[in-house]
Amino acid sequence: MMVSHSRETRSLRRPPKWPRSKHLTELAQRPYKNRILAALPQSELSHLASHLTPVALRPQETLLDGKANYGYFVEDGVASVIASVADGDTVEVGVIGIDGIVGLPILLGAGTGPGRTFVQIAGSGYRIPAAVLKEEFERPSELRQLLQRYIQGFLVQSAQSAACNRLHGIEARLSYWLLACHDRMESDALHLTHEVLGLMLGSPRTTVTLAAGLLQRAGLISYSRGVLTVTNRAELESAACECYGIVRKEFRRLKLL
Ligand SMILES: [Zn+2]
Repeated sequence: MMVSHSRETRSLRRPPKWPRSKHLTELAQRPYKNRILAALPQSELSHLASHLTPVALRPQETLLDGKANYGYFVEDGVASVIASVADGDTVEVGVIGIDGIVGLPILLGAGTGPGRTFVQIAGSGYRIPAAVLKEEFERPSELRQLLQRYIQGFLVQSAQSAACNRLHGIEARLSYWLLACHDRMESDALHLTHEVLGLMLGSPRTTVTLAAGLLQRAGLISYSRGVLTVTNRAELESAACECYGIVRKEFRRLKLL
């Protein structure tokens, strides 16, 4: 009898709306790491918080592909925006971490857009329904100003990525991309495989492995079992193309990084 009662009780329970791990419970209780949320005045934050749902951002999880149902304030981890062509080749046009939000088509009232945004480095964040985010963005507020600043930063990053992909070599681009991820994480250890790096850089895996090997032998990074660690950041900055400095300077000016 005990067993059947237990089963019945379980079956009557409503399934959780989202996975509620210990990490997510902690997330809901601590101050915000996301630069936009952290910069909001308490009055706006109190209002917005009721619409935010803590979520895990899982590796390779698609956050935006076509229609945007939710926006995501990233608290931990890195999402990548990639553009692809018919034969399946892809290249990254932007990275989003604690500096911003996934969901620019929502803010701009477009609803949908080409390209795909997915989780490159797993972490966590807050999800907000698209309709709520759009309504909040349309109201004059500090949130609106912060999001407008982020849109400016993202556009600069995208434009520079286009130039970088066309003009700069694989080693310099790899260094730039690793630094961009490093800036958006609170750890030197980045969970990235060579396959992922190839996807981001629009280069064959063998080319990326070769470039990563050069950086590793120079002592700028180390790599073991899918964990890439930045071991000499100053030298990695020297190895990166000027694109890194241009984008970094703009994000600093906008007080997003
Ligand atoms: Zn470049």
